[in-house]
Amino acid sequence: MDPIRYISTRGAQTPLSFKDAVMTGLARDGGLLIPDRIPSIVDDLDDWKQLDYPELALAIIRLFADDIPEPRLRELITDTYATFAHPDVAPVRAVGPLHVLELFHGPTLAFKDIALQFLGRLFEEILEERNSRLNILAATSGDTGSAAIAGIRGQQRIHIFVMHPRGRISPLQERQMTSVLDDNVFNLAVDGSFDDCQLLMKTLFNDLPFKDAHALGTVNSVNWARVLSQIVYYVYATLRVMETTGAPGVQFAVPTGNFGDILAGWYAKQMGLPIRRLVLATNENDILARFFNTGVYAKGAVVATINPSMDIQVASNFERWLYYKVGQDPHIMARLMTRFAMEGRLDIPLDPCGHLDTEIVAGASDTKHTLATIRHFQEKHGYLLDPHTAAGVFVAQQFNEREEPMICLATAHPAKFPDAILEATEQDLAHHPMLDALETLPTRCDTLANSAATVKDYVAAHAL
Ligand SMILES: *Cc1c(COP(=O)(O)O)cnc(C)c1O
Repeated sequence: MDPIRYISTRGAQTPLSFKDAVMTGLARDGGLLIPDRIPSIVDDLDDWKQLDYPELALAIIRLFADDIPEPRLRELITDTYATFAHPDVAPVRAVGPLHVLELFHGPTLAFKDIALQFLGRLFEEILEERNSRLNILAATSGDTGSAAIAGIRGQQRIHIFVMHPRGRISPLQERQMTSVLDDNVFNLAVDGSFDDCQLLMKTLFNDLPFKDAHALGTVNSVNWARVLSQIVYYVYATLRVMETTGAPGVQFAVPTGNFGDILAGWYAKQMGLPIRRLVLATNENDILARFFNTGVYAKGAVVATINPSMDIQVASNFERWLYYKVGQDPHIMARLMTRFAMEGRLDIPLDPCGHLDTEIVAGASDTKHTLATIRHFQEKHGYLLDPHTAAGVFVAQQFNEREEPMICLATAHPAKFPDAILEATEQDLAHHPMLDALETLPTRCDTLANSAATVKDYVAAHAL
């Protein structure tokens, strides 16, 4: 079969190999890279029931990463998932009427480890082969920074610089990052807000001579390798739950921010996995829930919530889904995205029955319902949900009228959000030995002024 090529949703990028797509991240025309076809896995599912998580990951990832020799890909994947504390990597638990897919057994206890542990190794592999180097720049308000650092630490050909707003992230999340002392990791506390950090990122990346001179790159969620590695757990969980329940298909509920996680489920469905429906859950920042219920995608102001990884204004992976929705026409896409950039709004017509889409349904939770859901699941089932997972579970319950089993994605360990757990349960239940141990570990972090010139000087002085 012809190798898969990666093309842009906006049509103006020369098709790329998998490795080039990974190194490119965002397409040069501003669009997102997508595979030029979606392979079917329908005939493989029966055989795949026997596979453990790393074996299944290899079977799926090799369909898309066809320019890495299989024995080498196997090593990378085995290595990646050996960092997970649970023998199943992503275990599925029956909790009351639902199935909970625990994606938080990686090094930083959040689902982003599944993708970033793989991406870090993939970068290193490709850089080694090309005798090249990379300086990764990231801005974080929480989870992404620590998962990115954990994926890159100790690599020989990569330095990573992670900016966070000084004193404005939770002490736990700060320590998760700053307790990593590897020589290639640079934590930067910027005297400013998260928006300031993002603006600094933009300024540095827009300075093309600076970007090229220091081989700057990102690990952000539009990287195809991140979406790809997330397809695996949808297949894994579906096979497990079909086996234990005897059901012919399943549904998934996904707490959503940048639309990367649920997009992976959508691809799994297109590949032929019997997912009957995807339930998208947001918090008060409900741009996506509103979109799937009205067809209007309109930017609003971001509010801070108890599930901060869902606090988004524009979902960066949404463009991939929209591309398929408009019939894979890059000209329509280029037009729509230009309009969105100008007007901050898109309108997609509903079908005659008043639906936007039959594959994805959506709803929102808020602080009150999320806390009540945490409390209820703790009292009734003795199971502690983190606030992101709880928002997904709350919305899942609104849509659980069908027969197919409902699998809720658990995206973070509850111990990462002790304040919300305390508020919900009035008990100090949220602990994890790894997080408790952070209290006493030494940390390293440099404080920088909120100034592009200062950050540039710093990066130039410490870049590989
Ligand atoms: C990043 C994140 C999400 C949102 O995932 P997206 O791919 O951005 O939709 C949900 N929960 C947690 C804990 C996260 O870290």
